[in-house]
Amino acid sequence: MSNHRKRLKASDVFRESKHVFGKKVSFEEAFPEIEDIVISVEESGRKINKWNYKHTYTKQNFPGEYIDCSNPLCYNGGFSIGKILRDMVKEKLTELETLELCQGYEGSPKGKKYYKKCLNQFKIRVSIKYKKTAK
Ligand SMILES: [Zn+2]
Repeated sequence: MSNHRKRLKASDVFRESKHVFGKKVSFEEAFPEIEDIVISVEESGRKINKWNYKHTYTKQNFPGEYIDCSNPLCYNGGFSIGKILRDMVKEKLTELETLELCQGYEGSPKGKKYYKKCLNQFKIRVSIKYKKTAK
């Protein structure tokens, strides 16, 4: 068996899991109170020389529940941006800077063998503009 098969990332595992959400919801359905959002993510770790792997996400290209890590050996890698946003919305936060560690581990392609914890980490900046509700 080749050792270079693509490992499933957090978003893949989430997509394949039967017991979490039954269906994928759109950003509007998940976060109806958000008018606008900018998320920027920098990653550091394996395959990345320094904090230079920057992605910017908005409502238009929102990645979904998880943002994946870039370590090719990492299984179930990434972090839950959905959870961060839900916590922010609960507190009505508009700005947040945080550091997340990858939840995955380096393992065999299907994740059966555990070699070591993935050390990739993410610097995340979120800026939210809330809708003015008439409630
Ligand atoms: Zn990882």
